[in-house]
Amino acid sequence: MPLLVMKFGGTSVATLDRIRRAAKRVGVEVAKGYDVIVIVSAMAGETNKLVGLVNETSPLFDAREYDAIVSSGENVTAGLMALTLQEMDVPARSWQGWQVPIKTTNAHAAARIVEIPTDNISAKFAEGMQVAVVAGFQGIGPDGRVTTLGRGGSDTTAVAFAAAFGAERCDIYTDVDGVYTTDPRICEKARKLDKIAFEEMLELASLGAKVLQTRSVELAMRYNVKLRVLSSFEEMDDAAGTLVCDEDEIMELNVVSGVAYSRDEAKMTLISVADRPGIAAAIFGPLSEAGVNVDMIVQNISEEGRTDMTFSCPTDQVKRAEKAMADAKAAGAINFHDIVADTGVAKVSVVGIGMRSHAGVAAKMFKVLSDEGINIKVITTSEIKISVLIDRKYMELAVQALHDAFELEKAA
Ligand code: ADP
Ligand code: ASP
Ligand code: MG
Repeated sequence: MPLLVMKFGGTSVATLDRIRRAAKRVGVEVAKGYDVIVIVSAMAGETNKLVGLVNETSPLFDAREYDAIVSSGENVTAGLMALTLQEMDVPARSWQGWQVPIKTTNAHAAARIVEIPTDNISAKFAEGMQVAVVAGFQGIGPDGRVTTLGRGGSDTTAVAFAAAFGAERCDIYTDVDGVYTTDPRICEKARKLDKIAFEEMLELASLGAKVLQTRSVELAMRYNVKLRVLSSFEEMDDAAGTLVCDEDEIMELNVVSGVAYSRDEAKMTLISVADRPGIAAAIFGPLSEAGVNVDMIVQNISEEGRTDMTFSCPTDQVKRAEKAMADAKAAGAINFHDIVADTGVAKVSVVGIGMRSHAGVAAKMFKVLSDEGINIKVITTSEIKISVLIDRKYMELAVQALHDAFELEKAA
């Protein structure tokens, strides 16, 4: 039997009525002759609520307990989706991550999928089951404890299942009708793309466009999964949404194809650290061990053998970063005068494969921001993207101004 993976995000399963509508879509594919693996997220808002409970209970929480708690939202929707399908006379059952089992690494709260054995679910399909409903976002680590794949991780569960089962397609149903040139919720001129190259989607996702989790795009690229993003709120249409595909399948190539932003960034500066060989390792080693995801790094000019070191990380990791640095200082591994956290910044990035062969994108980006009176605090670049850290209050303005300046509302 041909097989499809259909993933429904939080807003697509937010109420029993929405679950019923999602189940109807699944029913349509089953009627066409497909076996379907449905991956579900928690109901909208549920994971945030659970994360809030964890933080309130224990700010520097044990990540294994965090996973036990925040993974629970998906268990509820998986069961509800299976029951709804059964009510429609579609043979279905639910699986939690450990029952498959979805084997992951031990990196709690940011685990990676290592293996998905297919025998268990395939045997049920062979017995006549038509839909396997799997709780997204969760797995089981080598220590036998529940893990989660990082926020937005159900996308990755979906792509990993599509790869493991050789699915014909992996459809990601969400609350927008595809991937846009930027977030349509903050820029009304954002344009929907019919196709986007894996590499561009990878950059956009890793720079904050949460429509797909970064790791899901990496997996789709590696295993050549046919990945589509579409709305669960619109009429079913086989040509709908955005196809994430190889670069050579795309005719139109803009120099810049998208603008991404990440709201929850913090800029941390260690004031007056010794400028000596090994200092970066002495700072970033303990940060990494503490589970801090450092993004941008700038070492300022040095004066009399001392320098300031600036880095960015997600705002919710500031406390961890401060503690890791205080501990390293107490242990004598590093010495600094002060640590300053600026939690009012955001990262805005422009992305495009065309940048490989076009100069001047950075200069244009800096000019646009300067014309708007926006100060740039940190800059980083790669072959196909430029990112800046700016005050959060200018984030939407920056996204809109860049979208205008690079004429993203027009197709190439
Ligand atoms: P789900 O709960 O279905 O997983 P998410 O909230 O994780 O949905 O992702 C969908 C959201 O991603 C959209 O509502 C939109 O606001 C946001 N988004 C950010 N950047 C983009 C983009 N370039 N194209 C489409 N959506 C985007
Ligand atoms: N429910 C999880 C989250 O909100 C996973 C997901 O929706 O993909 O991050
Ligand atoms: Mg999501």
